[in-house]
Amino acid sequence: AAKEKDDGKIEGAVQIAIGVKKEVDFPGWYTNVLIKADMLDYYSVSGCYILKPWSYSIWEEITQWFNAEIKELGVQNSYFPMFVSQKVLEREKDHIEGFSPEVAWVTRAGNSDLEEPIAIRPTSETAMYPYYAKWIKSHRDLPLKLNQWNSVVRWEFKNPQPFLRTREFLWQEGHTAFLTQAEADTEVRQILDLYRRVYEELLAVPVIAGVKSEKEKFAGGLYTTTVEGFIPTSGRGIQGATSHCLGQNFSRPEMFNIFVEDPNDPTGQGKTYVWQNSWGLSTRTIGVMVMVHGDNQGLVLPPRVASVQVVIVPCGITAKTTDESRAKINDACEELAKTLKKSGIRAKADLREGYTPGYKFNDWEQKGVPLRLEIGPNDIAKQQTLTVRRDTGVKNPVGLADIGPTVSALLDTIQSEMYSRAKATYDSSLKEVTRWDDVVPTLDNKCVVVMPWCEVEECEDDIKERSGRASEPQDERAPSAGAKSLAIPFDQVRWSPIVPGKTKCPACGKDAKRWTMFGRSY
Ligand code: AMP
Ligand code: ZN
Repeated sequence: AAKEKDDGKIEGAVQIAIGVKKEVDFPGWYTNVLIKADMLDYYSVSGCYILKPWSYSIWEEITQWFNAEIKELGVQNSYFPMFVSQKVLEREKDHIEGFSPEVAWVTRAGNSDLEEPIAIRPTSETAMYPYYAKWIKSHRDLPLKLNQWNSVVRWEFKNPQPFLRTREFLWQEGHTAFLTQAEADTEVRQILDLYRRVYEELLAVPVIAGVKSEKEKFAGGLYTTTVEGFIPTSGRGIQGATSHCLGQNFSRPEMFNIFVEDPNDPTGQGKTYVWQNSWGLSTRTIGVMVMVHGDNQGLVLPPRVASVQVVIVPCGITAKTTDESRAKINDACEELAKTLKKSGIRAKADLREGYTPGYKFNDWEQKGVPLRLEIGPNDIAKQQTLTVRRDTGVKNPVGLADIGPTVSALLDTIQSEMYSRAKATYDSSLKEVTRWDDVVPTLDNKCVVVMPWCEVEECEDDIKERSGRASEPQDERAPSAGAKSLAIPFDQVRWSPIVPGKTKCPACGKDAKRWTMFGRSY
């Protein structure tokens, strides 16, 4: 049996492939999983990472699904340059104030300094909207709905974490313009729901949809909606993806001056400044999925996004096995893979020579393949295969007749059970709190506080201060020990009604407005 050392490393344990236990050294576990699953490699520029095929394929699944959905909504893809001139970037004051500490600049080309430094986009509002002003001439040009799949650069100084917080990251950014606020509001929520579905339906990761506090909203926007995830092992919240209503902040005359003649103004003189949204989902999704589902054997992939959903491993081959029966077993594996592929299942037969079945089991477990099928001489005789689930370890023999539908159904079960388990954990970590004295203990217990909140910005600052102080002093680059507001959930009826004028904010005693999630976060 494996012996555990004090630092969580496991001695002499093949069965604990990751070497560090998730519950003991979570950051160490996380990077080990990424490396051992062959998802990621480090890079010579700090805060940047290489996405290897095993993780990039997950991103491809997400992009394909999301692309199809936004096209249904009439969004078109386009591409804008990654460089932004200083003048344009700094036009929206609140926006640039939010982003300037993280903007990377190009100052030199070859041996000569540039006359003016050029920014690398941290996001593309300011790069795109001068052209929106040019292209939108009449209400007939609305709505304008563009998206781009690109990378952006934010030179973050907080501790970088693969996928979760990187200096360059892949994402999509949608930028839309409407005649009316009502249309913009509707789209904000439609996109947010697509983000929810990326997490819940593709990645089997539960999220909570809500609106951000004024303090946490997008710099320069009107309001920000979010899907908030939760990492049980660290007890921290994580902003999953955001859909912003920018209002008319970027379109007003002093900004990008994007207007149309008001079609409802009989004099024909009136101008309407367009209502704008922007929304983004990044490769952070992949990190959240790894953290939520991974275990001490490695990665656990939800079938929907796994590039290999089923691996078939030939078993029962020994030194005494004749070439003939060895070929028969391998053929059965290949045949099975073919049959499964015909049913639309991403299956692979692992016929590598010179590796034991045990080695192969371990290898595919580290890589998180959702289902393993084993075939040996006895299985062939009985026309069956042994199914082994990655998520639960449960083994079951199933008949080879009708194997396609059987395996499809099993993959669906794995997907939905992975989601249900993660959802139950998230739900049980949301703690309704109405007394200040319960806030810090709840956070220390790796839970999220849900409390009736006054929604006053100073109160949020104060909560962060008071909830951080109790803990040990921290490296300032580490995720903060103080709690911030994560989201004001849309689904308020989950909690007991707030009585206006009666229910008080436990932090400051003022009248509470809505139930709000507070937590330590990434
Ligand atoms: P924003 O435009 O700032 O709202 O960002 C859109 C989404 O991108 C956020 O909701 C995050 O999920 C994600 N994101 C933000 N910063 C990073 C980063 N440094 N690395 C990876 N993903 C990020
Ligand atoms: Zn308060």
